[in-house]
Amino acid sequence: MAQSKQQIKALDALHQQILDENICPDLAASATQLVFGEGNENADLVFVGEAPGKKEDEQGIPFVGAAGKFLNEMLAKIGLAREDIYITNIVKYRPPNNRDPRPAEKLAFLPFLQKQIEIIQPKLIVTLGRHSMECFLPGLKISQAHGQVVQKEGQAYLPFYHPAAALYNGSLRQTLIDDFANLPHLLETN
Ligand code: URA
Repeated sequence: MAQSKQQIKALDALHQQILDENICPDLAASATQLVFGEGNENADLVFVGEAPGKKEDEQGIPFVGAAGKFLNEMLAKIGLAREDIYITNIVKYRPPNNRDPRPAEKLAFLPFLQKQIEIIQPKLIVTLGRHSMECFLPGLKISQAHGQVVQKEGQAYLPFYHPAAALYNGSLRQTLIDDFANLPHLLETN
């Protein structure tokens, strides 16, 4: 079987496992649906956000709201489309009223996120926001770490500010745009 087909099968099985094992039953009950992840199962770049919001919960796809539109614009500027990357979140159900995901919820989904990454084997994991960065690179400060590649246990990570935080904040917005502009160079050199 071609590699891609195997990867799609493995991702589908993982998706189903979250449902079968009823991971985070309270979140599952309050959310509309599971937002597992979307994109190219062979991607060099995996983007990891925090948790689905309202639009994502409605559509079952990560980053389809305002933050997602901004993300798509920045991807387009560096010649990438959503089909070129894979995108997911740490927590895969929308927390009620968009509250922050709880530590226990992040922990419950972590093995699934790790497995997703293992299946895709990206060159670079781009963490979007503080929660996502802390999940892989605890102890770093996003104000210092953003835009720089961190190598850890054979995997390269690149922390970015969260597009939702940057969307309406002039200086963060420009910082995120600049970090995105440097992404192709970092991908080539890491
Ligand atoms: N914010 C996130 O962290 N993830 C989404 O999917 C949407 C908004």
